[in-house]
Amino acid sequence: MNGIIENYKELIDIGNARPISMGEGGTPLLRSEFLSKKINADVFIKVEGCNPSGSFKDRGMVVAVCMALHNKKKVLVCASTGNTSASASAYAAKFGLVSAIIVPNGNIAKGKLSQAMAFGAKIIAIDGSFDDALNIVRKLENYDEIEIVNSINPYRIEGQKSAAFEILDEIGEIDSLCIPVGNAGNITAYWKGFKEYRDKFKFKLPKMYGFQAEGASPIVRGEVVKNPETIATAIRIGNPASWDKANEAVTDSKGGVHSVSDSEIVESYKNLARKDGIFCEPASAAGIAGLIKFSESHKFSGQKIVCVVTGNGLKDPETSEKHASSDIFEVGANINDVLKIIR
Ligand SMILES: *Cc1c(COP(=O)(O)O)cnc(C)c1O
Repeated sequence: MNGIIENYKELIDIGNARPISMGEGGTPLLRSEFLSKKINADVFIKVEGCNPSGSFKDRGMVVAVCMALHNKKKVLVCASTGNTSASASAYAAKFGLVSAIIVPNGNIAKGKLSQAMAFGAKIIAIDGSFDDALNIVRKLENYDEIEIVNSINPYRIEGQKSAAFEILDEIGEIDSLCIPVGNAGNITAYWKGFKEYRDKFKFKLPKMYGFQAEGASPIVRGEVVKNPETIATAIRIGNPASWDKANEAVTDSKGGVHSVSDSEIVESYKNLARKDGIFCEPASAAGIAGLIKFSESHKFSGQKIVCVVTGNGLKDPETSEKHASSDIFEVGANINDVLKIIR
């Protein structure tokens, strides 16, 4: 499998470094009949949970790790609510690096931390928030053998922009993109990708719509949120690293950043599983919750729209058990009892 570095080598600059891959990118772009009908538009879902470690983070990580290897780094370090650590430790395992994960103690979806553990990462749980963890990581930047792979790493954005190329390659230009926003690296990357392809192939640029969770919506409110709270752990961010770039993307594209409530997120999370057969983690459903909530005010009707569904539902089994479970029928071990339920 080629991976994004080989697939888009004219647009992802790695200098003299040797391309690597774990088969990231090339994720499904599925038309949602349910959403298309519901808002009377042409709605597609980019299923990023199909990346090697189960989220879009692999697109950026492969480029960051490619450059880390080229620059003879030995250790990958990140502060992470989960998916960045899962991704970093997977690539570290494959390419012979050490990974060190700095996380806030508690408040982490188990599925994600168990990935990092399985990949053999050093897990360091600090007594503090995600933002505290990120501050410590920033200070490690000056040590020679260490590569910081948080979204402040510019190669992450370079890799993540490949998702925009894939969309344009597959279905051509679109009117709007709806995407969850946490640290705002991904919305920044898509916007960069769309602009670079526009320069090359003369596409119309889409409007960019970012969606934060109500309890973690610093960009919407215009101020840092001290203790962000939401069921959507992957976007529980109070002080986004790429705040300015996100504002630039939505302003330049004439889109917007809005918030959606946890119950709106859960509703979309459930519908995505029940109507589209896509099992995502709660944060991943924020873009769809936003699409539905703002479909009238932003006149989404009649448009061609892509919703980015960022990560795999298996990462957060606690939430699915709580909010999207179904009954288990306990019956005798005979065909008649079973048929009664089936019929
Ligand atoms: C990282 C992540 C996000 C948020 O992306 P940002 O680039 O931080 O805005 C959303 N969903 C999932 C599943 C993630 O892993």
